[in-house]
Parts: sequence; C-alpha cells; structure tokens
Amino acid sequence: MVDNAYTLLRELKEKARDEGIPIMTDEGIDFLTTFVIKYQINNVLEIGTAVGYSAISMSLANPKLKITTIERDETRYLEAVKNIKKFNLENRITLLFNDALDVKLDDEFDLIFIDAAKGQNQKFFEKFEKLLSKDGFIITDNMKFHGYVDKDESEIKNRNLRGLVRKIKDYKKFLEENEEFKTKFYDLGDGLAVSTRG
Ligand code: SAH
Ligand code: MG
Repeated sequence: MVDNAYTLLRELKEKARDEGIPIMTDEGIDFLTTFVIKYQINNVLEIGTAVGYSAISMSLANPKLKITTIERDETRYLEAVKNIKKFNLENRITLLFNDALDVKLDDEFDLIFIDAAKGQNQKFFEKFEKLLSKDGFIITDNMKFHGYVDKDESEIKNRNLRGLVRKIKDYKKFLEENEEFKTKFYDLGDGLAVSTRG
C-alpha cells in the first residue's frame, strides 16, 4: 500500500510538472514533509492546492495530519478532488473551491502554508494569522521567485514581473519587521520563510 502510494505520488508529480503546474520543488517538499514529522503538525491550512501534490505529500508523511486546502481555479480543484480520492485521503484532506481571501474559517491550525498568488502573501498572512495556534508556524513558499528576487530590478524587463518581484520584496520586509512574528528564511527550493510568534 505504502509503496503503491509513493508510486502514485511520483506519477502525480511528473504529470503536474509536464503540464506546467507550479507545484513545489523536490527540495521544498522534502523540507515540508520533514517539518510536519519533526514538529508533529496535525492540523494544516494550505492556501493554493493546485492539484493536491503538497497536501497529499504532507498527509502521507504524517498519518495523523489533517489539512484544509483552498484552490480558486476550478480545473485544478477538480483535478485535486480526483487525486485525493485516488489516495483515499477524502477523510483527511478538506478541499475548498474558493478564493482564499473570501473563505470564512474558524478552526485552529498548527501550520499555515502559503503557496498561492505571490503578490497577495501579506494579505493571506494577515487574514489567517488569527487561526494559528500559539506555537504554530506560517510557512511561505516562493520567497526567491525563481531567482528574480535576487536580481537587479533593471534586469527584469517585464513590467508585471517587476511588480510581482517588488511585492515579494515588500512581503519579506513585512516579515523581517513584524513585531509579533520572527521569521527564518531558507534558501531551499524556491525559497521558504518560516514564521513563529516570539
Ligand atoms: N501547493 C501546491 C502548488 C500551488 S500553486 C503544490 O505544491 O502542490 C498555486 C495555486 O494557488 C494555483 O493553483 C492558483 O490557482 C492558486 N491560487 C492563487 N491565488 C489564490 C487565491 N487567492 N485563492 C485560492 N487559490 C489561489
Ligand atoms: Mg510554490
């Protein structure tokens, strides 16, 4: 069963990558799955399901883990529904088809994983931090944004891209200057930020 699940997971990953769906890198997913085991994370909120790859990966890593995950793109959401059924994880993964900024939740989570529209990270953070347990973590993906964040702005010719990069930089500053949360930045995958209170 376990072997079978990991074969299925590899197939899911390869299919998603072939289709250009921006799922986590191997390095990023290793970090995340190790993290949920190490800190015994049992309740996760994920913003940005895509087709369910990271949600399924975390669920397989820690059998006690439950996850609520939000996706606004209907095609991806429907693909995620199918994938989660394949793994028989319907009881542990709750999929919400909505814009994360419109959902109303009042559960408590010990990990909030932000992996959606990169320009909205601060909005997600501010909206969902109140759902975080006292010792919980907020992890944000794509802090490097494929290396663009470390580039000189003049090298980025596309205006929209430049705007997005500026927003990620602003978000980084927001985290660095946050009075309530301390953040560590990891140069892994596409760049990860791990924020905790105090
Ligand atoms: N976590 C996934 C990858 C997510 S890709 C994995 O590693 O397997 C980012 C996804 O976030 C995209 O599918 C996009 O449609 C979704 N998204 C972007 N902004 C969103 C929002 N405001 N609310 C919900 N989903 C959003
Ligand atoms: Mg990502």
